[in-house]
Amino acid sequence: MDDPVAFVKVKKKSHCIRALSLFLVACAYLCGSILSMKKVGILGGGQLGRMIMQAAANYPVETYLMENDPACPAAHLCHHFIKGDITNFDDVYQFGKGLDAVTIEIETVNEDALAKLESEGVNVYPRANTLRIIKNKIKQKQFYKDNEIPTADFVITQTLADLQQHASFLPAVHKLAEGGYDGRGVQVIRTKEDLAKGFDAPGILEKMVIIEKEISQIIAVNEKGETSLFPPVDMVFDPNLNLLHYQLSPATLPDKIFWKVEAIAMKLVRALKSPGLFAVEFFVTKDGEVFVNETAPRVHNSGHHTIEGNYCSQFDMLLRIMLSYPPGNTEPILPAAIVNLLGEKEHNGPAQYDGLDEVLQMDNVFVHIYGKRETKPGRKMGHVTILSKEKQELIHKARHITQVLKVRSNK
Ligand code: ADP
Repeated sequence: MDDPVAFVKVKKKSHCIRALSLFLVACAYLCGSILSMKKVGILGGGQLGRMIMQAAANYPVETYLMENDPACPAAHLCHHFIKGDITNFDDVYQFGKGLDAVTIEIETVNEDALAKLESEGVNVYPRANTLRIIKNKIKQKQFYKDNEIPTADFVITQTLADLQQHASFLPAVHKLAEGGYDGRGVQVIRTKEDLAKGFDAPGILEKMVIIEKEISQIIAVNEKGETSLFPPVDMVFDPNLNLLHYQLSPATLPDKIFWKVEAIAMKLVRALKSPGLFAVEFFVTKDGEVFVNETAPRVHNSGHHTIEGNYCSQFDMLLRIMLSYPPGNTEPILPAAIVNLLGEKEHNGPAQYDGLDEVLQMDNVFVHIYGKRETKPGRKMGHVTILSKEKQELIHKARHITQVLKVRSNK
């Protein structure tokens, strides 16, 4: 090329073309990596959904959330919020269509829609059929019986009149088949006179167990059927509210009971035939008998300490399963206690957290506020995790935090 001006122009042009192609390659790469990001959906946006979202933030994943309340605890942590009713077939189906994996934070999700999604290739945790068994206490108890999973004896009742026929079965506990949670839907029936306090709806009447302690075992199952067990935890209940008061991890159990619990949990999840994460609640009696009380097919209040207390948290483990990553290490880093932050009695309205400064000055104490604007008596507003090598210190701090940290209404 003789003309130097033309030569410079051609050179500039070729630089532009090269820059443009580099830009296009970068765009294609970026789009490719965005497109290859798995899309994961969570049905329910309460504190459990919120903590799943917090764990999801560590992974290459695009998150979707469905909940009726756009101001729910998990809403601002997801990539895509879809307002909808988790009990409604169409809402759940439309939400899950096109996602890679879907999970639940509460059992009331429409399981027919989950079954349809499953048949169309969406990975659903837990499987729809497992949810169908667990969400109904009659089916759940029958399942334990059919699969020889130890559980307290029970009879099925359909109406209050039906319940009256079972005076010889007392003392017992009457439980609603569906819709009960956190002790609502559970009625102790000690005497013939108490029978009138039962539910006039389908349920089970379960023999009263003389409970020495209640423990929870969290167990995760991946798509290959590999199981990971978290150390069991001791659950200490508030007798007035029937809500978890505080909990200690790992539970103090004789080896024999510990092995029984593990073996039963493994047998149970194998029979459920579903990948996912499960919390199995047990009653342990003075004589060393172990009964399954109930199973939750999802992350659970009794596993919140795993966020700081274990190498892999229950939330991280669930995501690993949903994203087909290897399971994490469930070993504890340190023993832990959890205190639930419940709305104070007689306080309804915008929430304020009294005593937070004092608690935040304590060593190895981790506060989780769920971001619910309104408090109500007994409402779960947050939790606090305490870590220590010393069990006595855990108990002491748990009790102290219960005394100083209060959720009140500022109205
Ligand atoms: P929810 O599903 O509402 O948590 P549960 O079935 O777990 O209800 O019962 C709540 C609490 O009631 C249990 O944690 C336990 O303390 C007590 N309870 C339930 N069933 C029995 C039983 N068969 N015997 C004695 N206590 C029971």
